[in-house]
Amino acid sequence: MADDRCRVFFALWPDGALRDVLAADAGQLPAARPIARDQLHITLLFLGVVTSAQRACLLDGAAAIRSPACELTLDSIGYWRRSQILWRGARQTPPALLQLVDALHRLAQGCGVEVGTRPFQVHMTLARRVERRPRWVPPVSVTWPVRHFVLVESMLVPQRGSPYRLCGRWALLG
Ligand code: ATP
Ligand code: MG
Repeated sequence: MADDRCRVFFALWPDGALRDVLAADAGQLPAARPIARDQLHITLLFLGVVTSAQRACLLDGAAAIRSPACELTLDSIGYWRRSQILWRGARQTPPALLQLVDALHRLAQGCGVEVGTRPFQVHMTLARRVERRPRWVPPVSVTWPVRHFVLVESMLVPQRGSPYRLCGRWALLG
């Protein structure tokens, strides 16, 4: 793979205080591999491997997005058996978030990045390699004031610490 390529995704990225809340019950997770506090996120659109020109196009276009802020209430737990992933979800997806995801889809298309057609599902991975659906439910729901979105690089060769690096962060209208 050429050096100028990178693997990126748009996401919601919790601030420090929210991470504390989200990670507070992580110790109770019935999981072999809980996600570290500083890696918790919600993927809005996974772009995969892009060229540096596409990355520049995504950064420019993201800065031009005008999409409203919203409150996202994480109040459910989901489990994907095939991927053995346990995640935190939302019973209701705010229309503003769908609007943002739509804008990101259009941006990706405009930058010549092919993305899947899988419908957007709010999910925050909490743990991997969870072999069966646990009975565990998070004791409290968490309301996230969504004010920003980010572009994240998923490092193919992770540095020490997090495998993710923030490339850009943009405010939502609020
Ligand atoms: P790893 O794959 O090394 O275990 P990861 O899943 O955290 O780590 P990536 O595979 O780069 O890192 O994924 C980054 C984010 O994008 C994660 O939230 C992941 O769930 C999501 N993602 C990855 N691949 C896809 C895909 N094909 N479609 C939709 N979302 C994806
Ligand atoms: Mg992955």
